[in-house]
Amino acid sequence: MTHKIKMTKNGIVCKTNNTTILLDPKIPLEGCVNFVSHAHSDHLPTQNGVPTLASIETSRIAKLRGCKMDSSDNLENFSLLDSGHILGARGLLFDDIFYTGDICTRSRGFLSGAKIPKCKTLITECTFGLPEFIFPKLDEIKKTVNEIISEHYSRGIPVILFGYQLGKAQTISQLFGHWEPLYYHDSVKEMNDLHRTLGINLKECIGHTEAEKNGLLEKKPWIMVAPFMSEKSYFIKNMKSKYGAATIGFSGWAKSARFSFGRRADYSIPLSDHCDFDELVELVKQSGADKVYTIHGFVEEFSAHLKSLGIDAQPLREESLDDFI
Ligand SMILES: [Zn+2]
Ligand SMILES: [Zn+2]
Repeated sequence: MTHKIKMTKNGIVCKTNNTTILLDPKIPLEGCVNFVSHAHSDHLPTQNGVPTLASIETSRIAKLRGCKMDSSDNLENFSLLDSGHILGARGLLFDDIFYTGDICTRSRGFLSGAKIPKCKTLITECTFGLPEFIFPKLDEIKKTVNEIISEHYSRGIPVILFGYQLGKAQTISQLFGHWEPLYYHDSVKEMNDLHRTLGINLKECIGHTEAEKNGLLEKKPWIMVAPFMSEKSYFIKNMKSKYGAATIGFSGWAKSARFSFGRRADYSIPLSDHCDFDELVELVKQSGADKVYTIHGFVEEFSAHLKSLGIDAQPLREESLDDFI
């Protein structure tokens, strides 16, 4: 079967003899297969009304985020494969093509690392496609963070753990939920409550507004899981000035000396929901693909590295500025 794959203003378009497949389109189109890989906002459609192909968890989380999708997780000749990135995240295998969406092959808490299928053509993300991004083992991360928290607890200092509201916040709620008392930022509480209804074992805790209203934050130390936000935000200023809280940020970018946005906290921990560089290379090898397209992140550098290994790779770029399909 012949395919034409290209990047457009409306996501990745893949045309086979009789089907057009849109991968993470902004605007799903009638008559096409519209695949939504997961519920992070840069992958969700901005318009509803046309049926999409997505996991049940993705449509439930999308709904909480104000995106009502008419979706199904079942379509003949299309396999949705767990991509290990966040709850509900899937890659798509069809014909001899595998699209990773956002992917992580390392297991973290309730998320199991993705298993890579054999394919001829691979479309892979490469958010951390530079050799400087090698992440530590999860056990090492847990040890480091538990030591930081323990040290602060011994001095009565509360600790706030920062991670993206969807994905990282649930993982760190689970990994460090044994510290008591545990509170959630209100937005994390909402997302954790939804995860619990989807079968994920997360402790039921009250949100920060309620905790503060009831004077519970005065009783130090405590631990709280919150979404990343600016140091200038009222929330952080208040938590620091009123309660003297220390902060730990969790992000893959914490590894980099060049990308400082991973270090907006007192401590930065390189815990990521994406593959690191070595894991990306391993993923490509496991797929056995003879053609690799790189998307998201260091697309030039990563495809150049693959070429140096003798793999036919190229960045998937918009060919024409006004291509929509
Ligand atoms: Zn994502
Ligand atoms: Zn993404």
